[in-house]
Amino acid sequence: MIDVLVIGGGNAALCAALMAREAGASVLLLESAPREWRGGNSQHTRNLRCMHDAPQDVLLDAYPEEEFWQDLLKVTGGATDEKLARLTIRASSTCRPWMRRHGVRFQPSLAGTLHLSRTNAFFMGGGKALVNAYYRSAETLGVQVRYDAPVDRLELRDGRFLAAYVGNERIEAKACVLACGGFESNREWMREAWGQNERGEWPADNFLIRGTRFNQGTLLKFMMGQGADIIGDPSQSHCVAIDARAPLYDGGIVTRVDAVSLGVMVNRDGVRFYDEGEDFWPKRYAIWGRLVALQPGQIGYCIIDSKAVGRFMPPVFPGVRADSLPELARAMGLPEAAFLKTLADFNAACRVGHFDHTVLDDCHTEGLAPMKSHWARPIATPPFLGYALRPGITFTYLGLKTNEHAAVHFGGQPSDNLFVAGEMMAGNVLGKGYTAGVGMSIGTAFGRIAGTSAAAAAGLREVRHAAA
Ligand SMILES: Cc1cc2nc3c(=O)[nH]c(=O)nc-3n(C[C@H](O)[C@H](O)[C@H](O)COP(=O)(O)OP(=O)(O)OC[C@H]3O[C@@H](n4cnc5c(N)ncnc54)[C@H](O)[C@@H]3O)c2cc1C
Repeated sequence: MIDVLVIGGGNAALCAALMAREAGASVLLLESAPREWRGGNSQHTRNLRCMHDAPQDVLLDAYPEEEFWQDLLKVTGGATDEKLARLTIRASSTCRPWMRRHGVRFQPSLAGTLHLSRTNAFFMGGGKALVNAYYRSAETLGVQVRYDAPVDRLELRDGRFLAAYVGNERIEAKACVLACGGFESNREWMREAWGQNERGEWPADNFLIRGTRFNQGTLLKFMMGQGADIIGDPSQSHCVAIDARAPLYDGGIVTRVDAVSLGVMVNRDGVRFYDEGEDFWPKRYAIWGRLVALQPGQIGYCIIDSKAVGRFMPPVFPGVRADSLPELARAMGLPEAAFLKTLADFNAACRVGHFDHTVLDDCHTEGLAPMKSHWARPIATPPFLGYALRPGITFTYLGLKTNEHAAVHFGGQPSDNLFVAGEMMAGNVLGKGYTAGVGMSIGTAFGRIAGTSAAAAAGLREVRHAAA
């Protein structure tokens, strides 16, 4: 019988598999995707948020534990388990040498990613290179990997793992790590979670999924049915406004449109609905998916003029271009009169001071609702550009409750041999909100813990201390 079965094929699963193998366990990893689509959402990532007390290779200055903790506290509004959060934070300060040993390389933050050069270590070649490096290392170390292997149910007895099923095939193991992501790719479940709105719409029908199509939440649902302790709210997710032309799945980072804070956003009625300049874009980009989801038809339109061009990361799809605002309204299918009134009111309300997109500048609107607090300049210099945006779901927050050993819980009791890592438990640390790079911090910390715990549960106890 195999010692440790790892279910999932992204960052958390690979960290678990590598740690369990390093502890001497025989390891089988089951990835539901075919080889060419392996790596889940992790293949789309760019960076990891890291605590550090002094400058490091690719990280500037310091980002101490307390500051990281305060950032988490702020974005979650307290919906976090301090013990597990601090464990994640501390682990982020020590994991990179281990990651390097398994082939991951780092680079300084990319141009255009404001304010991350101090806090986030970027993966050279992005998440795809990270995932490829981990698979290469896992295979070299003798981890068995099976693709096209979706697990649809588990056999459990009194909170203990006995076996997993891929169709009719029964796979036994001494211990198991669940690392198979959220349920964002399951459109039926998303529909149910978001429900119907007051306009009779099912908002989730208009959502796009930024990452993998393979995170169907099958085992999350199964574990809920088995009475596992659950954490989080099914309607909470990381949700970004992305180009409406993005594919349903796997559009990745390039479909994001980072121009919102430089222009105005209107809904399909041509009306503004939120302060585009409330705060720095990295602190606000993740609220716009939900804001658009609440608009009629779940669509928004980002409008900029030529002054904004070159000041944001170029998106993959070109904007709709026009030499006048009426022409832009027509090209985007917006109600012309309402749109022109919104733009005229906005332009008239702008109080332009010293425009500086790198600080919370003094360019704002007066007497306008909603106001634009910063970077407000009249949209008046042709050519004009417009981008239609839809809610783009990154991942869901509903997950399994866990502890510092990454154990799955039933009725408050930790399982002896069933563990969980990554998005499937991230809600313990991140009940809501988001701060860039923390998904990979959580997945790396708990993936490594889960792998070590699973190896120990499989009887390889002596190495647990060596790895701890
Ligand atoms: C476009 C995009 C950009 C992102 N950028 C960043 C970033 O820069 N930094 C950051 O920290 N976070 C980022 N995130 C979030 C990040 O991707 C996640 O936090 C992290 O990758 C989660 O890792 P995971 O291993 O838990 O899940 P995943 O990487 O999604 O892996 C889940 C795996 O489980 C497999 N699976 C699912 N169900 C089953 C089943 N039943 N049987 C077998 N296998 C199954 C899937 O195929 C997949 O391989 C980004 C996400 C997206 C979509």
